[in-house]
Amino acid sequence: MSEERTTTHPSAPVHFEHWCEVEGCNKWGGLGFGKGAQPMRWWCAEHYPHWDRKPDVSQDS
Ligand SMILES: [Zn+2]
Repeated sequence: MSEERTTTHPSAPVHFEHWCEVEGCNKWGGLGFGKGAQPMRWWCAEHYPHWDRKPDVSQDS
């Protein structure tokens, strides 16, 4: 056996996945916010805290 094939996942960062940072929320963090040297943070539409920066939002509620 010169070539070992295991089912372990490779640790290579194929895609950078960013999910909503709110604990318990498993939604995709499609809305990001970054400022200067701060790392980008991501939220789903429900938890995104910077809606004031996006005044053109229509919410049906
Ligand atoms: Zn969320």
